[in-house]
Amino acid sequence: MNEPLKIVLLSGGVGGAKMAEGFAFSRFSEQFSVIGNVADDQDFHGLWVSPDIDTLTYTLAEEIDTDKGWGLQAESSRVLDQLKKLGADTWMYLGDKDFATHIYRTELRKQGVRPSEIAAKIARSYGVKTPIILPTDSCIQNKVMTDSGWIDFQDYFVKHACRPDVLDFKIAGIEDATATPESLKAIEEADLIVIAPSNPVVSIKPILSVPGMTEALMNASAFKVAVSPLINGETVKGPADQMMKVAGYRGDVIGVADFYSGLIDAFVIDQVDRSAVSELSASVEHVLATDTLMFSRQNKIRLAETIVHVYQAARQQGCCSGYSSSHLSSGSGRKIAV
Ligand code: GDP
Repeated sequence: MNEPLKIVLLSGGVGGAKMAEGFAFSRFSEQFSVIGNVADDQDFHGLWVSPDIDTLTYTLAEEIDTDKGWGLQAESSRVLDQLKKLGADTWMYLGDKDFATHIYRTELRKQGVRPSEIAAKIARSYGVKTPIILPTDSCIQNKVMTDSGWIDFQDYFVKHACRPDVLDFKIAGIEDATATPESLKAIEEADLIVIAPSNPVVSIKPILSVPGMTEALMNASAFKVAVSPLINGETVKGPADQMMKVAGYRGDVIGVADFYSGLIDAFVIDQVDRSAVSELSASVEHVLATDTLMFSRQNKIRLAETIVHVYQAARQQGCCSGYSSSHLSSGSGRKIAV
């Protein structure tokens, strides 16, 4: 019997968690793990909030509020209402049950427990089997430059609802960050590394920018696949298309491929962007156009299994050429059956 495939997903919050759900509930879940983004973390009411890691945890625990794509189901806001009454700034919605996660995390951080261990403890308590790995235990934070100067990412994203013009980005603390041994091990041992359809600029870049992380990915023997978060030049949700332009890339699949240039072996785009396949094939070895819009459990699993199929077909092609398909084309002119 073959060893289960070791699959590692690099993920942000909402878009990444959908992809994580696809793998975690597929037949490839056994050796599946996720490296999540911690650069959206911020302090609220003296508590350390880690939105993307919590979105992954709650999604994989099947307790996510599926309407919003974040937060817990069946929430109430009694704590937030009381904080408002006391005059606190309450623009960041934190539900009562969710508050418990932040209180627990903050308490353990004060005791000196490693953030990676805290994330693992929380995931275990929620019954999540998939390892949710932090790329770093150091504090790194996305900052956004607007007309009024540098502001915290959540201020831009939630408080100002992405309205201010973004002039620049930075990840505070990134130069001094250290990659966790868990993330480096997962990357080194992986057969397949998938970059989720997450915001490249503020969700994936903070993972790739942890010193040593991109090198680890480049050196890894794994097959690397990215899934585009942009469909027909637009985001499904959020400001990724605009952010890509500010970061100097096109706000479409060509821009996403440029962003991951040199890092990926295969690129999965939505079928509506099918006309870009030949242009993309000049820079990425394998390009697949398929349905990438994830809404049901079923089509999340289908996309995850399609990605594994791309990997298997490419590996097989490496040893025995002659596959053909109208779906997947490769830069070298080869075709892979999917
Ligand atoms: P955030 O950290 O909560 O903003 O979440 P992510 O960075 O993980 O995901 C945001 C990105 O996910 C956006 O750019 C969306 O376009 C993308 N996204 C969300 N749902 C889907 C989907 O079903 N399919 C694809 N292809 N992209 C999606």
